[in-house]
Amino acid sequence: MTIDQFNFAGKKAIVRVDFNVPLDENGNVTDDTRIRGALPTLKKVLADGGAVIMMSHMGKPKGKVNPKLSLSQIVAKVSERLGVEVKFAADCANASEEAAALKPGEALLLENLRFYPEEEGKPVGVEKGTPEFEAAKKALKESQKEFAKKLASYADCYIMDAFGTAHRKHASTAVIDQYFDADNRMLGYLMEKEVKAVDAVLGDIKRPFIAIMGGSKVSSKIGIIENLLGKVDKLILCGGMTYTFSKAHNGEVGKSICELDKLDVALGVEELAKKNGVELVMAPDAVCAPEFSNDAPQSVHPSNAIPADLEGLDAGPEAQKLFAEAIKGCKTILWNGPAGVFEFDNFCAGSRAIGNAIAEATAEGAFSLIGGGDSVACVNKFGLADKVSYISTGGGALLEAIEGKVLPGIAAIKGE
Ligand code: AMP
Repeated sequence: MTIDQFNFAGKKAIVRVDFNVPLDENGNVTDDTRIRGALPTLKKVLADGGAVIMMSHMGKPKGKVNPKLSLSQIVAKVSERLGVEVKFAADCANASEEAAALKPGEALLLENLRFYPEEEGKPVGVEKGTPEFEAAKKALKESQKEFAKKLASYADCYIMDAFGTAHRKHASTAVIDQYFDADNRMLGYLMEKEVKAVDAVLGDIKRPFIAIMGGSKVSSKIGIIENLLGKVDKLILCGGMTYTFSKAHNGEVGKSICELDKLDVALGVEELAKKNGVELVMAPDAVCAPEFSNDAPQSVHPSNAIPADLEGLDAGPEAQKLFAEAIKGCKTILWNGPAGVFEFDNFCAGSRAIGNAIAEATAEGAFSLIGGGDSVACVNKFGLADKVSYISTGGGALLEAIEGKVLPGIAAIKGE
């Protein structure tokens, strides 16, 4: 079933949304991108004359109630965006009454799903790898089904619209589907859009195809890097991982972030790039500072000759030029992860250079896909959001989809 085909009149739809939005210390939503992302689906249900029950996680409460991660804090913001007074169910697993009372055109938000360990299916308070852990996990699998069944009992149909968690096999993303037949479960508009964006990158790749991978560590991105080396023409590796590559060639990296146990991984990446004929682009110079602070004094050094008392916090001017040249003229662009500590205004020039080059290439007809919280934050910070082709709401999910993995949240809807 597709959401466009479905008539929600008189029906209750339970929608898995991704309302894992950042809050300030007073519980105010500081970025409501994810809430806005879910609106087309929610509004379609309401406009048809249906009622919506929204469910989401927020943060990592690890199976325990944590008031700081209560979704009650976002009720006002969701109401404002949706244009409907949203009701709140303070216990997601005991919301039958609230759900039953919903009338057409009304909306209900359930409390954080991850207040229950059943959502993730991960045992709490038992050491990983022990027999106790395995036993607890098995027991939890059973209660996970009960939890999902309970959630399903609130509604007539199920919509999966949380791309950010579509790569997780959780109760609300890939267990609940079994309690709805194929005619009563579907992807939401956001999911459809995300899937289309991934297809645009992978389906009919317009070349040259460049990927820009940044962030702090090579270890967390090695899977996707290796995978991309089989697909792209050029790969820019930037951010903190630069120094692991420098070190692998006996460079001096000072106090820079560096994974000493991943030097062989770095060399392996270089070898694979060579074998596959992929042009690997890395920063020849770095903007360095004596401490991790926006106001620290800056100096530029080669990325492999950083003085002992300094650390590289951004790509240097030569690197910025090189990155921009590499991106220019490309027809497909994927960006995940910043080129430096972009959160510091004084160390965001490298990321800005990448963002600007992507915007220019997009204006010349490239398809650019930006994914992962930090690169999305970069694009927003530099005011480039409407100058790129698509900004994904998913970090891990996007990368797994690009790796060619079938996301459990999508497979569940298709009944795979
Ligand atoms: P990740 O979560 O691995 O995508 O990394 C994102 C984080 O990497 C951002 O918060 C950046 O501030 C950080 N980062 C990027 N470059 C560096 C660097 N040279 N040194 C330390 N942190 C960095």
